[in-house]
Amino acid sequence: MSGSESRAQAVFQITNSEPLKVSKPKSLAKIWATDVFTLVKMEEALSKKAYKAMKKTIETGEALDPGTADVVAAAMKDWAMSKGANFYSHVFYPMTGASAEKHDGFIVSDATGKAITEFTGSLLIKGEPDGSSFPNGSIRMTNAARGYTAWDPTSPAYIMHTGNGATLCLPCIFISWTGEALDKKVPLLRSNSAMNTAAQKVLKLMGEKEVATLNSSCGAEQEYFLVDSNFANLRPDLMLAGRTLFGAASAKGQQFDDHYFGAIPTRVQNFMQDTEEQLYRLGIPAKTHHNEVAPGQFEIAPYYEAANVAADHQQLLMTVFKTTAKKHGFKCLLHEKPFAGINGSGKHVNWSVGNSTQGNLLDPGKTPHQNLNVLLFCGAVVRGVHLFGPLLRAVIASAGNDHRLGANEAPPAILSVYLGSQIEGIFNQIAEGKLDGADEGGVMDMGLSQILPFAKDAGDRNRTSPFAFTGNRFEFRAVGSEQSVSGPLIAMNTILADSLNWIAGELEKELKNTSTTTAAVIEVLKKLMKEHSVAIFGGDGYSSEWHKEAVEKRGLKNLPTTADALPYLKDPAIKELFKSTGVLSPVELESRFEVYSEQYILSIEVEAKLVVSMAITTIYPAATRYLSDLALTASSAVEMGLDFDNSIASGIAANINGMMSTVSKLEEAISKEGHGSVEDHMQFCAGTIRDLMNEVRGYVDTLEGEVADDMWPLPKYQEMLFIK
Ligand code: ADP
Ligand code: MG
Repeated sequence: MSGSESRAQAVFQITNSEPLKVSKPKSLAKIWATDVFTLVKMEEALSKKAYKAMKKTIETGEALDPGTADVVAAAMKDWAMSKGANFYSHVFYPMTGASAEKHDGFIVSDATGKAITEFTGSLLIKGEPDGSSFPNGSIRMTNAARGYTAWDPTSPAYIMHTGNGATLCLPCIFISWTGEALDKKVPLLRSNSAMNTAAQKVLKLMGEKEVATLNSSCGAEQEYFLVDSNFANLRPDLMLAGRTLFGAASAKGQQFDDHYFGAIPTRVQNFMQDTEEQLYRLGIPAKTHHNEVAPGQFEIAPYYEAANVAADHQQLLMTVFKTTAKKHGFKCLLHEKPFAGINGSGKHVNWSVGNSTQGNLLDPGKTPHQNLNVLLFCGAVVRGVHLFGPLLRAVIASAGNDHRLGANEAPPAILSVYLGSQIEGIFNQIAEGKLDGADEGGVMDMGLSQILPFAKDAGDRNRTSPFAFTGNRFEFRAVGSEQSVSGPLIAMNTILADSLNWIAGELEKELKNTSTTTAAVIEVLKKLMKEHSVAIFGGDGYSSEWHKEAVEKRGLKNLPTTADALPYLKDPAIKELFKSTGVLSPVELESRFEVYSEQYILSIEVEAKLVVSMAITTIYPAATRYLSDLALTASSAVEMGLDFDNSIASGIAANINGMMSTVSKLEEAISKEGHGSVEDHMQFCAGTIRDLMNEVRGYVDTLEGEVADDMWPLPKYQEMLFIK
């Protein structure tokens, strides 16, 4: 057996454990949305009038009257109690990116002291968590603690089962007493409505008679790692920071690409089935799962839904993954870069907008050159990405995501847009003032009689683009795996709203000057392309040539770290964007800068403190113990008159000294005070602190290759990455 005693024990446990048994998959029809208060259940439980009102609210966002809320609350309580729930919870989504919940019982006692249950419309509609400890970015004074949660009827209520208990969960917004958004849901709802208003204007100008409410949709592909908890529990870095701060490369990593789409290990398959059954009960349409590129890495992609619901579901999915992993003896790592030297995890956010009358406004169909609405919407996205690239970079900025972006495994930190040859071809025609036709995908015929020919897509894909058109949607590929999808969705909806407003203005003018709508659209898009086509790029986004060209020739911004990106939230153009669309007031936007920059600084400081404590209390003792063994051996050898090579011992001594002197520098850096501004403090974390952390890591990882394996205290990459 190899490894220190604790590592050896972990290996022993894992070798002798069996995959957690799961029962045979249940029929989807039996379990689908059983824990959700769906429209179907409302129809059964509510009066016709109340049901109709609820349906309208859900479909169009129209206000619900208090009387109906009372009826809905009573029905919800009965349903929840029939499922074993004695508590309800307003679930909300503060700026930390996590989900928050406050639980209240249905119980009240009557005059005789008997316990009765009660749940009125007003309790359903409004909650009042003190919530003063949530970051609010100076929106609230420390002494002004009042915050409200308010029910969002457009995101379905559900039951969360934990142990033997059950809780009725109500997705909510979270606002201050002064009405400012303290969360991620309010701006998401506002961005959707800004997009709808702007889109209505454009579609009406395009001659559409009936235009139903537009909604944005989101399908998020979530990547994650699973590590056996026996190993994870031995690593303070994995437990507290979600990533390994030390760890030498394993001889075998991902170089064979043999994990990607490979056979899923039984343990993991059982875990996936277990999570997916829970997701189905919660009405989350888990659709795709597979092994990802790195060993120990996997992906799940639910089918797309309305953005607001998808965002809530995505938060819930991350919770279900973490708790279910524990049950199966795993730690689920959602961090963007748990292991150095192998791929990290992202969350591709697939996004489109549409309605019931015009359909998906990003689906060009078979004859894209005739689909003027779609061309306008695609053009609007191009303009938005060009004008607000730094905003799109800022909403995916986090301490974790900084490790991936631009590191040849994830899109670069430069925001450009990929349209694919078909749509790009059309826009190139438009730039020349014409609209002749479109390339067609044609048919894939392999000439093998047993393989049936099939329709080929009109364009290939580009996996190096941060923002790619994928046939009927845009895929924002640079989002971090641990992030809430709300930030990216808010940004995309808002830049689209702004561009559609601009297009509406231009179109109105052109329609007066030109004889046909087509001619007017060509004129508007021609102007748009002249200014913004520099944001379109279909080549290799990983290449150094692109980095040079993007910045030097096209004037796009390369913002490698969060410290570089977040200050753009203070940019006057971005302030104006949010103000004019009504998505975030200047105060609300400023508060986001404060909260996100504080989180960035805190994340790096926590990691830096862990580096210090692990180096001093875990690595130093192990390395010196081994050095002492070597020293004893050397002196005995000399006594015996043997020739003994001291080079390993000298190397270890030098690395221990190097590590400890760098640790001192890091300690000093952590305790440095008096940073001129938050921006300076962020840069200090991104630069000095991270550099010193990496330097310490360099020494530690070298020591890992020198110290006797049976003395090395931390589980190694080669052990953690390959799941038994
Ligand atoms: P790939 O890995 O090939 O990009 P996946 O099947 O893993 O594809 O994930 C694609 C995601 O995009 C899924 O969540 C899917 O539901 C979603 N999606 C498909 N069409 C749309 C659309 N029109 N709008 C938003 N999301 C979509
Ligand atoms: Mg995928």
